Amino acid sequence: MMVPVRCFTCGNVVSEHWEEFENRTREGEEDPQQVLDELGVERYCCRRMLVSHVDLVDVVSPYQ
Ligand SMILES: [Zn+2]
Repeated sequence: MMVPVRCFTCGNVVSEHWEEFENRTREGEEDPQQVLDELGVERYCCRRMLVSHVDLVDVVSPYQ
């Protein structure tokens, strides 16, 4: 679905970084590790929120 607004573990806002993270890593153009470093997402709990997210909202939304 949509990327969670906040990190489940620490509550830090992570959704503000999703669009840039996705655009820059979409087809392996850039290393996700480097992009997250540049975005200032330092904690591994927050990094996993972006790295492990699969955006399915456009796939699912026509059926609701
Ligand atoms: Zn976190």
